[in-house]
Amino acid sequence: MPMAIDVVLPTEQEVTWPDLCPGCGERPCDNLLSVAHRRTSVAAWFWPILYLFGKRRAFEVPICSPCRRQQMRSRWLRFGAGVAIVVAVFWLIDPWLRNQIASRNLRRLTLLGIAVIALSPVIALYVCFPPAVDITVGKKTIAFEFARRDYADAFKAANRPRS
Ligand SMILES: [Zn+2]
Repeated sequence: MPMAIDVVLPTEQEVTWPDLCPGCGERPCDNLLSVAHRRTSVAAWFWPILYLFGKRRAFEVPICSPCRRQQMRSRWLRFGAGVAIVVAVFWLIDPWLRNQIASRNLRRLTLLGIAVIALSPVIALYVCFPPAVDITVGKKTIAFEFARRDYADAFKAANRPRS
């Protein structure tokens, strides 16, 4: 099963992108794909306003045009499916839960649990068919996630810590 390969770098490190398309590994890179991630806490699930205070990092990754189109398409599909599922859970289940659970926080927690279960097929697809490049920003490190092993190796070699 093709799972993403992680390369972890310190947040302050300057990133060098390999001269290779992260999607196909063949065609020359004639375009850029932006990848971004905002570091947030679990609390943002309950108070979405917290997202605005998360530390955002973004990178422009060299990629070939056909792969960029394909990446953008699957990104929107995933996003669309995720939003549709969350909206459906809140619209259909929240009114019903209102009559079952009086505590607001407990209701939110229940909704969150239902949403996670409903989202699990989308999450599973994401894990089994990862995007060419993605990032997860941590406190002191950034995890760069790649679909291709050869690209991950080239990225690792290009960003070896200088001693
Ligand atoms: Zn490509």
